[in-house]
This record gives sequence, structure tokens and C-alpha cells, in this order.
Amino acid sequence: MRKYLAGIDLGGTKFATILADLDGNIIAKTKNETRAAEGSDRVIGRMIQSIRDILAENGARVDELAALGLGIPGQQDSEKGICISAHNLGWVNLQVLEPFKEALGIPVVMDNDVRVATLGELKYGAGRGIRNFICITIGTGIGSGLVLNGQLFKGPAGLAGELGHINVVPDGDPCLCGSRGCLEAYASSYGMVRIAKESISRGEKSLMEEMTQGDLEKITPKVIEEASDRGDKLATRIMEDMYKYISIAICDLINLLNLERVIIGGGISNMGDKLLDRIREYVVYPRIPRPSQEILSIVRAELGEEAGMYGALALARKCLEGKGAN
Ligand SMILES: [Zn+2]
Repeated sequence: MRKYLAGIDLGGTKFATILADLDGNIIAKTKNETRAAEGSDRVIGRMIQSIRDILAENGARVDELAALGLGIPGQQDSEKGICISAHNLGWVNLQVLEPFKEALGIPVVMDNDVRVATLGELKYGAGRGIRNFICITIGTGIGSGLVLNGQLFKGPAGLAGELGHINVVPDGDPCLCGSRGCLEAYASSYGMVRIAKESISRGEKSLMEEMTQGDLEKITPKVIEEASDRGDKLATRIMEDMYKYISIAICDLINLLNLERVIIGGGISNMGDKLLDRIREYVVYPRIPRPSQEILSIVRAELGEEAGMYGALALARKCLEGKGAN
């Protein structure tokens, strides 16, 4: 008899595996190293083994597993089970689902990791009971998942939610995507560190040089935040730009979609209330209409880095319920 559901959230350095029963009770969670440099076959092999292990360690058999959900970084064709591109894994046009189906003999579904994390917040976290929200992940890059009318919105090519690449500075700095002036080029940890390094290399004075003993490679968002707290001009400008540009993007989204909630996660969200309070200061009437303002809450993601695995589990459940990956 099929009694269990499993999910895997794959990241560039680690992947997390979760096992639950069909009633949704969590049985176990494990973490393993991705070791992307060893190639996709080995990574997928280790992911499959993690399923076998988590079942065995909890006295369960593979034939008792009903479905598996996967959150995979980058762009996915989730219908065909193909990872179109995942830069941090070095995967291009890779068939992901077939090896899992072959090895485990069960339905397996996948989606983009940020969207899957959004599903996690929808089912188990800060999005519970909220029908229209966006879950924004601010880390090395900036991604988002949109929930509209209670459903995850993917878009016809599965690319909805590329918030990191909306324009916030006309003809601004180049972005890794090939465009210019993208939100990600300023407000992601990659963007913030880039601006710090470039400005100091151009001769701008900053405490950050002293804080990193002149090794600019050691600049992190944490260093920028600390330097800003100590009154450093460059660091303060970078922090203020980050708050401002994220807020511009959020105002645009609220005006466009009349969302009830903005959920903020990812490494930068560890700043907590300081970040949320600044965003709340920006996202006010008259930037957004008062009726929108009254129903809006801006909150931190509840599940943190576990959102992805909970979402993968929710994806497996959806698949079982016959609703497909969306
Ligand atoms: Zn871009």
C-alpha cells in the first residue's frame, strides 16, 4: 500500500529531502551535499539514494512511496521534465524526471525551486490562507513565485516570477541576464557586492577596505551592512539603493496585481525587521492606493531554507491528487 510522499529541494551546494505520510505528518528530513562538479548523473544518483535512505531509516519501503516532488534551480520545462538551464549546477537541457521514475517506479513532478518554495509557504508557511501573494527570495539572485486566486501562477512558458530582471534603472548597470538596470544587478547579494567592489576599485574610499584588510573578495552583504551601520558612505548608499529598488519593484507589483501579502525570504531577509521596516516605509500611500495598502502585509518567509522541501512535498501531493504540477 502507498503510504508516503517525499520531496527534494535541490540547491547548488546541498539538497534537502523530506518524507511525510499521506496525512501530511512529517516523518523525517535529511540533508546531503550536491557536489555539482561531479556531473548530473552522480547528483541525480545521490538524490535517488537519499530517497532510498530516508525510507529505509524510517522502516519504509520504496513500493510504499506514492509520489515524489522536486524543486530544481533555474529554468524548467516541468511538463517534459527537462531542466532547460541551471547555471549553478552546470545543467543545460537535462532530462531530470526519467531517471527518478525509472529508479523508483512512481509519479515524479518537478518545478523551479523558487516557485516550489512559494508553494511551501502557501501550504505550510506565511502564505497559508492568503489567496494573492508574492514570495520574493533575495539571495545571490532575486526570484519570486506568484500565487493568484490561490494557485501558483507559472505563465505559458513557465517563466513567471522573474522579478530579478524587471528594470529599476533605465540604461543602468549590466546584468548577468544580458539586459541592463535589472533589480538583481543592484539589490541581490551579487549586485550589492559587485557595486562595492567596483566603487572601491575606482578609488572610492570606504571602511570596507579596512574591514576586509584590502581583500575585496571578502566583501559580503553582511560586511556592507556593518559598514553602513558604522556610517560608511558607500555602504550606506548601497544599502539605501537596495531598499529603494526592492521597494520600487514591490510597489509596481501591488499596483499591478492588488496583492494581499508580500513574503520576503532568502539570505538578505536574515536582516529581519530592519529590511522589512524600510520596505514598509517605502511602500506607502500615495505610492500605492490606500485600499491596496489597507489589505497589504509585508512579512518574512516563515519556513526559511526549509520552504523548498515543504514545497516539494506539496508538489508531490498535488500530483497525487491529479492536479498536475500546477
Ligand atoms: Zn537581468
